[in-house]
Amino acid sequence: MKKQEKITYLKDYQPPSFFIDEVYLDITLPEIREDDVKVDSVLIFQRNPDIKKPPKSIFLNGVGLKPERIAIDGEELSSKHYEITADGLLIKNPPNSFQLETLVFIDIYNNKSLEGMYFSGQTLCTQNEAEGFRKITYFLDRSDVMSRFTTKITAPREIYPTLLAGGNCTETSKDDDQKTHSKTFYDPSLKPCYLFALVAGKLNELQENYTTKSGRKIKLSIFSEQENLEKLNFAMQSLKRAMLWDEEVFSLEYDLDEYKIVAVDAFNFGAMENKGLNIFNSSLIISNDKTTTDNERISIEAVIAHEYFHNWSGNRVTLRDWFQLTLKEGLTVFRDQEFTADHHSPLVKRIQDVNALRERQFNEDSGPLSHPIQPSSYKQINNFYTATIYEKGAEVVRMYRTLLGEKAFKEALSLYFSRYDEMAITVDEFFAVMEECYDGELTQFKKWYSTHGTPHVKVEEKWQEKTKTYTATLSQRIPNNAKADPLLIPLQYCLFSQRGEEIKSDTFLLKKSKQALELTLENQTDKPLLSINRGFSAPIELEQNLSEDDLFKLLKVENDGFNRWDFLQQLYFSSFHSYQKQKASFEINANFLETLKNLLTKEKDYDYVAQCFSLPSYNGFVAREEKLDFEEIHAFRKTFVKQLGSHLKEDLLKNYQKLALKDGMAERSLKNILLALLCEYNTNYRQLACDQFAGAANMTDSYYALLILCKQLDETSKKTLSMFYNKWKDDNLVMNKWFAAQARAQSENVFETINDLAKHAAFNIEEPNKVYALLAVFAFHNHLRFHDNTGRGYELIGEKIATLDSINPTVAARLLTAFGYYKKLQPQLSQKVVKTLKTVKQKINSRASLEILENLLTKA
Ligand SMILES: [Zn+2]
Repeated sequence: MKKQEKITYLKDYQPPSFFIDEVYLDITLPEIREDDVKVDSVLIFQRNPDIKKPPKSIFLNGVGLKPERIAIDGEELSSKHYEITADGLLIKNPPNSFQLETLVFIDIYNNKSLEGMYFSGQTLCTQNEAEGFRKITYFLDRSDVMSRFTTKITAPREIYPTLLAGGNCTETSKDDDQKTHSKTFYDPSLKPCYLFALVAGKLNELQENYTTKSGRKIKLSIFSEQENLEKLNFAMQSLKRAMLWDEEVFSLEYDLDEYKIVAVDAFNFGAMENKGLNIFNSSLIISNDKTTTDNERISIEAVIAHEYFHNWSGNRVTLRDWFQLTLKEGLTVFRDQEFTADHHSPLVKRIQDVNALRERQFNEDSGPLSHPIQPSSYKQINNFYTATIYEKGAEVVRMYRTLLGEKAFKEALSLYFSRYDEMAITVDEFFAVMEECYDGELTQFKKWYSTHGTPHVKVEEKWQEKTKTYTATLSQRIPNNAKADPLLIPLQYCLFSQRGEEIKSDTFLLKKSKQALELTLENQTDKPLLSINRGFSAPIELEQNLSEDDLFKLLKVENDGFNRWDFLQQLYFSSFHSYQKQKASFEINANFLETLKNLLTKEKDYDYVAQCFSLPSYNGFVAREEKLDFEEIHAFRKTFVKQLGSHLKEDLLKNYQKLALKDGMAERSLKNILLALLCEYNTNYRQLACDQFAGAANMTDSYYALLILCKQLDETSKKTLSMFYNKWKDDNLVMNKWFAAQARAQSENVFETINDLAKHAAFNIEEPNKVYALLAVFAFHNHLRFHDNTGRGYELIGEKIATLDSINPTVAARLLTAFGYYKKLQPQLSQKVVKTLKTVKQKINSRASLEILENLLTKA
C-alpha cells in the first residue's frame, strides 16, 4: 500500500495560532554512538493576538521521536490532554500562553536521510531546511514561527571535543571528572527553526578575525572533519571577501559575534545557511591548487558568499512559508552572481550563468517538471530546490534591476532589508518595495512569479526605404503554457547601421502578446541591424532567425560581449542544422572558421576565447532542439571538430604550447579547451594530454588531461586512471573526480565500468557526493550512453534509484529528474524510458520520488 499523498496549497495558508517566543534546548549526546540522543526542550508559547477564537488544540510537528515527558507550566500532562501521532503531538485546550516542556529521545545513528540530526562519518550534525527540525523535537515546524534560541549541548569530551550551535557561545563548563563537557549558545536574533544547527565531533579549526565597517570584531572559524587544516585557507579568505563586499555594495554588516562554518562529507545539498553556523558539503570548503580545479575554487568562493549573504536575504528577513522559497534563493543567487562578477570577469560570469540557466532551467521548464518560481502546490518541498526557483528566480531579480536602474534598485533593497528585518514575509512584500521605488507601475511584472515555462519572443523586422521607417514586431508566447497572460519583458537592444555605427540603444518593454518597436531613421539608407536581449536582459528564448550573414555582420559591430558570444552560439547551432541536411557534404562556413581563427590569434581575453571555443554541450542541445537524437549530435560534433582541426591545427597547437608556458586561470581554461579539441581532432595528440597529466603542477591541468583521455576507456586512459587513483586514493574528495571522469566515458563498455565502480571500496551509496560523482554525472552529462539504443543506461540508473529511494529519497528524487526531457527523444527511446519509470515505480515508496515520477509519467 502506498501512503495517501498530501498536497500542500499556497492558497490554504493560515497564520499560526501560536508563536514560540523563546526556545531552550538541552541536548545530551550519548557515550555510545548507537545510543539515542536526549533532547529536553522548553518552549514559551504565546497565542497569536490576530486569532480571535481560542484554538481547541495545538498541533506540533514531530517525526520519529520517542517522548518521555510532556509538561505544561511544570505539570506533567495526563494522556487525556494530548495525542501522539506519526506526524506529531496534539495538545488539547492549550492556555493563551504557556511553557511546554518535552523530553524526547531520538535515534540518529540510523538516520540515513541526512535530515534532522545525523552522523556524517564521526561528526554529528543537523540539516533542518526544509522540514528537518521535527525530527529533533516537537515544534511548530514552519518558517513564520520565529524564536530566540538558547542551546546547551552536553557530551562526552573524548568523542566530541568540539561542540557548536548557532548564535554566540555564552557558557562553557566541564564536569568534575572531566569526562563530559557542555557549551551553551544564545542567538539574540529571531529565527525560524529551519535555521537551527548543531555540530559535535572531533574537528580541526582555522580561526581568524574580521572587523566590520562599524568596528565590531567578529570571530571567524572554519572546521573540517579530516586533517585538512591547510586546505581551509581559501575558504576563509573567500568569506572575508564576501563580508567586505556586502558591506561595500549593499551596506549590510554581519550581526553576531561569531561566524562558524563546518565542512562534512555526508550532505544532500551544497551548503546550508543556518544562522551563525553554516554547514557545508566538504567539497565546497576544502581546497588547494593541488586537489581542486580552478572552476571548483570559483564555485567554493561563490557558495561561501551565497551562504553568507543569506544572513540577510533569508535569515534576518525570512520566508512566511515554503512557497516563498525564491524570495530568499532568487535574491541570494543574484547577489552571489554579482559578487563573482565583481571579483572575476563579469562577461565570462554572465556567459556561464546564462549557459547554466539554458542547460538546466530551460530544460526543466520545457518538460513535465515545469513549474513557476512560486509554485501553487507541492507534495514534497525538497523537490522544489530547483533551477527554476534558484536561477530563474535570480533572473527575475535581475530584471527588477534593469527596470529600476542600479541606483533605485539598491535603494529598494536597502528599504526591503530595513523594513522587514526579523520578519517572515512573502514575495508580495518584495514586489511592493520594488514597485515603490519604480517610476511607474509594475503589476504585470508580478506574473513572472506564477507563470511556468520559458517565454519565446519572436522578432520580425521590416524596413521601409521610402519613409525611412524601421519596424521590429515582437511577439511573445510560451509553448507549453499557451493560456499564459503576456509578461512584462525588458529587452535591452541596440540598432546598428550597416556601416557599424550605433543608431540607438535602449530598453524595450514588451508588455503585449504582440507589440511593435517603430523608429524613423532619417539618415539611414539601408535596413539597420538589430541586436536584442543584450546581456541576456530577460530569461527568454529569442526567435530572430538571423541569417549567417547577419550574424557575421553583427559580430563585427556589436560591442556587447554577451551578445557577441551568443551570435557564435547561434552559428554553432546553424552549423548543426546544415549538417542535419547535408550530412557527408557538410562544410563549416568559411567565415565562421575565419572568425574563430581571429579570436584565437588576436583576442587577449583568454577566458572569453575559451567560452567562444566551447562547443554547445549536449545539455545545450537539449535546451534548444525540439527533437533529440544524441547519436546525430555526437556525429555532428565529431565532424565539426575534424574540420575545425584540419583548418586550424597549427593555431590550436601553437596557442596550446604558448599557454602551457604561462600560469593563470584564464590561460589554463583556454589551454585545456584547445587540448580537448586537438585530441578529438586526431588521437595522435593524446600524447600531449599524457604529457600534461605527467607534468601537471596543479589539479586543473591534471584533471582536464584525465577527462580528455577518459573519453575512451582504453589502455592509455586506464593507465592514467590508475596513476590518478594511486596518488589520491586516500583523499575522499579527489576520489569523486576519479569516479566522475569514468562516468563520462563514451565507450560502449561504460555500463560495466559503472557497475564495477558502484561496488568499489571507495564508493558509498549513502554519501550523496559519491552518488552525484558516479551516477548523476552519467545520467546528466553522458548523453550518448545514458540514451544508448540498448536502453542499458536507463536500466542502470533506474535500478540505482530504486536502491537509493529507501536510503535517501531526496537524492533518489534528484536522480529521477535526469529523465525530464524524455519526450523529445525518438519514440523507441522514450518508450524505453517509460518502461524503466514504470518498473521503478513498483520499487519505490518515498513521497519525494513518487511526486517526480508521477509528474514525469502524467504531465505533458
Ligand atoms: Zn541558498
